[in-house]
This record gives sequence, C-alpha cells and structure tokens, in this order.
Amino acid sequence: MVRRRVLAYVGLGANLGDATGTLRAAIHALAALPDTRLAGVSRLYATDPVGVRDQPEFRNAVVALDVPAGPDPATGASFLLVALKGLEVAFGRQARERWGPRELDLDLLVFGRARLAIDRPVAGRSIDAGVDPAKVSRLLEVPHPAAARRLFVLAPLADLAAGLVPPGWHESVGSACRRREIAEGADAVRPIAAWDRVGGDWRMLEPALPTG
Ligand code: ADP
Ligand code: MG
Repeated sequence: MVRRRVLAYVGLGANLGDATGTLRAAIHALAALPDTRLAGVSRLYATDPVGVRDQPEFRNAVVALDVPAGPDPATGASFLLVALKGLEVAFGRQARERWGPRELDLDLLVFGRARLAIDRPVAGRSIDAGVDPAKVSRLLEVPHPAAARRLFVLAPLADLAAGLVPPGWHESVGSACRRREIAEGADAVRPIAAWDRVGGDWRMLEPALPTG
C-alpha cells in the first residue's frame, strides 16, 4: 500500500529568552516528529511585534514538513496541530494574553491542498484559551487565517514557496508578501540568518549595507 504524504508549512515564532536558540531546537524537534521529514527551512527573521507592540522583537521562520496525510485531511491536520501544541508546551510556553510575548509559537500555515475549519480535539486548543476563552477561536483553520495578513509569516514562507497559491487564496505567497511589504515597510522583517542543513544550525548573515 502506498502511504500518502502531504507537504505542510509550519510557522515558528519566539520572543522570550534565547529566541534564536529556541527556534533552532524547535526545528530539530519538528524534524524528529514521528514519520516526519524536514523538507525545507526559511531564513531566520528579526521582526517587530504586531498587535501588542510593547514587547521584545520576535524571531520568525517557516519550515516545510513532509508528513503523513492521515486517513483524511481533517484527521491528518489535527494530528499535526496536536503535535505542534505539545511542542509549545514542552518548550515552556506559559498561558498569557493572546498576541503577547511567548517562548514558542507554532502555527500550522498550510497542510497540502486542504482547506479546513473544524473543531479541534481539546489537546489542540491554545493554552492561552484559559486567559480569555471568548477571544480564542475553537476551530482549526487551514490555511492559517492570519497568514495572508502577516509579513512575518509571508516573508519566510516566500523563501520556501513564493509561487504557492494556498487553497482559498487569490494570489501567490510571493505577491501577498510584496503587498504586505508596501503596507508594513520592508524593514519590518529583517533576515538575519540562513539555515545550514549540514550543521543543523543558523548561520548569521552579514548585515546588508545601506544602498544609495
Ligand atoms: P496566534 O494567532 O498568535 O498564533 P495562538 O497561538 O494563541 O495565537 O493561537 C490561537 C488559537 O488559534 C489557538 O486556539 C489555536 O489552537 C488556534 N488555531 C486555529 N487554527 C490554527 C492553525 N492553523 N495553527 C495553529 N493554531 C491554530
Ligand atoms: Mg499560534
């Protein structure tokens, strides 16, 4: 029997403690999930906080994961979401206000061609739900509904899949990224490192020289 596989994109973010080190360790943990292959890692970005602005700068990246499709997309995506939420807790994420500082945020951005809005199993709910349940949706939504609005997601996702048109979108990741760059200013997200596959670690980039 052929075992069906899906390419999933997962967004990573952190802004407490050693955020760059957390993202490195989280990438290793994602690659070590059962029956999972790390298919790509974006550059690492330093990004300005969005929403609650009075908090430390974020580190953001996106990884591509080759994962089991599951018996159906809802089951496969829910299974992956539960694994992501488990890793957030393992990395010490505390219940806090939504959009506030966090040790590690893992968002399921894209799960193959699946377009989903479903009830999640309890283990898949955000631990921030305890802070203000009214503000937290109880759905798993894929593609992640905020991805198209967030340059800190679009820029690293475009590193891996600029030509991808996620299900339900009307444009590619690359063109959404350029639109948000105009809205937010290109320096709202700053690439600071590239992933070294062999060493399994970030390689810091030279700061870009000012042009002109
Ligand atoms: P943020 O939107 O800043 O990532 P949280 O990580 O606290 O906020 O997640 C908010 C809620 O969104 C959680 O209850 C989470 O389970 C839910 N959620 C819905 N769809 C997704 C998805 N595709 N990936 C991750 N979380 C999701
Ligand atoms: Mg999240």
